[in-house]
Amino acid sequence: DPNLLDDLERGEILGHGSSGRVYKVVHKRTGSVYALKVIQAKHDPAVRKQIKKEMEISRRHCGHSSFVVQCYGVFERMGEISLVMELMNDGTLADLLAKHKKIPEHFLSFVSRHVLKGLKYLHSKKIVHRDIKPSNLLLNRNPQLVKIADFGVSTELASTFAQCNSFVGTCAYFSPERFDPDVNGGKYDCSADIWSLGLTLLECALGYFPCLKEGQKPDWPTLICNICLDDPPAPPKDASPEFQNFIRLCLQKDATLRPSAHQLLMHPFLQIYEDHSCTLSTSLETLSL
Ligand code: ATP
Ligand code: MG
Repeated sequence: DPNLLDDLERGEILGHGSSGRVYKVVHKRTGSVYALKVIQAKHDPAVRKQIKKEMEISRRHCGHSSFVVQCYGVFERMGEISLVMELMNDGTLADLLAKHKKIPEHFLSFVSRHVLKGLKYLHSKKIVHRDIKPSNLLLNRNPQLVKIADFGVSTELASTFAQCNSFVGTCAYFSPERFDPDVNGGKYDCSADIWSLGLTLLECALGYFPCLKEGQKPDWPTLICNICLDDPPAPPKDASPEFQNFIRLCLQKDATLRPSAHQLLMHPFLQIYEDHSCTLSTSLETLSL
């Protein structure tokens, strides 16, 4: 619908990202609610074209999995790019982590199952998400789902933000091979998302970002050095053996050794909590979100 954007009324701001803002919007005629991401008009036309192209790709593919946030339209007006997407009501994994400092394993098992189903779908379409991190994993209590947001748009945006700090925020979850132009001629594949998922889960379990040592400044050179030269970060010793093994499998520096999303869906870490009475809403309640 080419007029969709005109029919939307902007409401509260849901969040700020490095590229712009996300608003809650209401469709005036139907009363349906959406999330609207507005990317500031400061990019030159070539970059804008690329961003739009990548968003169009994501739009074409996002509608077919319940584990990927749906996108209903991409618009460009006076240099401002807007993306109309499905509204997720209960915040992000990043919000949950900020509020509770650490996230219990059974909840991470639930999150993993949903994210892996989303990744399995994307990877089957030969799409690498490239930006799996806590703020791109969105929560919904009703129905109980975790969904992946923001796929496909990040590289172009990230490189235009290379100068500012938010770039570090995005690159922090990059797998080692993504920093190495000699690996695969600088290309990376689906296994890069598996690393990012492993790091996201580990951060949630530990309650701090594992690729920075105490007292280190979170800048770009420090991060690259740690990610590329150190051993991969280790899971907490008091975690279940299943979770420790899951994390170790995801965080292998040799990308070819990482299991696929499909393989990880059969991992015992997802099985041990399958009968757990915890649901997303009870978890969110016990975590008092
Ligand atoms: P970065 O800019 O580093 O990628 P980010 O993912 O937080 O960080 P945005 O993708 O711009 O940045 O999103 C900003 C915030 O808006 C998110 O953190 C989230 O709280 C909220 N948000 C994004 N998409 C949705 C959505 N579909 N439904 C509800 N809230 C959303
Ligand atoms: Mg995002």
